[in-house]
Amino acid sequence: MSGPRIVSTHSQNEIKDLKRPSGGGQIYLGENGPILLTNTAMNASTPWCVSGTSTVICSIKGWLSHLVESVVRLKTEYLSLIACWLSRSEPLINPGLVYIPLDEFCKIHKHCETLALEREVIGLLLGDTFRDRYGPYTRIFTPITGKSSGSAVHVQFDREGIAELMAQLHEFQNESSICPIDKQTISDRRCSNCGYDIKNTKMVGWYHSHPGHGAFMSVTDIRTQEQYFNFDHLVAIVDDPLRREYGVWQSTNGEISKAVLYGFKTG
Ligand SMILES: [Zn+2]
Ligand SMILES: [Zn+2]
Repeated sequence: MSGPRIVSTHSQNEIKDLKRPSGGGQIYLGENGPILLTNTAMNASTPWCVSGTSTVICSIKGWLSHLVESVVRLKTEYLSLIACWLSRSEPLINPGLVYIPLDEFCKIHKHCETLALEREVIGLLLGDTFRDRYGPYTRIFTPITGKSSGSAVHVQFDREGIAELMAQLHEFQNESSICPIDKQTISDRRCSNCGYDIKNTKMVGWYHSHPGHGAFMSVTDIRTQEQYFNFDHLVAIVDDPLRREYGVWQSTNGEISKAVLYGFKTG
């Protein structure tokens, strides 16, 4: 990513207390789009169609095939998740956990998938950082995007795209009428239920696609993270819609490390 620097106001705001979303699970890219593998109940691990508006109820057989597929792919995070599900316990809460509503993750994946055969795509993540008794955590509210140009192995925002992103952030902060946390009404920029001040919403990271070349942080991606997203808790999501893999990284004390994305359903 290059172009004018988008200054994050991240360090200027106090981190507010807010309990983490519960009842979610790790996001897995199934054949029909992102699904949640939860540890709470079998019927909660319903796959969501990326393109459709309805939720498809997965048969036990279908669910098991996803499970088997995830084991075969030998992804450490899936294995730990499955272990977690089998033990019916809450996942380990660690500082590297990032939270996102599943339908918002679907938007990211859909964007990456739409141009998968042509080029990489890029977007930013709006959200905020909160803390609870387990410590601070990042909560993504929604992805936004702007005009970009790229190839199969490169993408960057255009100057015009940066302006579009700033306008969307401004609109989110000033014109949202629904709270991104609990979907309650906002009046005078505050949620009537949880009290969240929508003006605190900020850019909490970025996402981009790697169509067909895997979910990893390239040298350029690391440079981008260091240059533009070098604040604690800021997130990078890399989605490979062709291989159906994604990865999440986070900056902490200037270091970039792998994080876990925890999806949940809202409403
Ligand atoms: Zn609220
Ligand atoms: Zn990349």
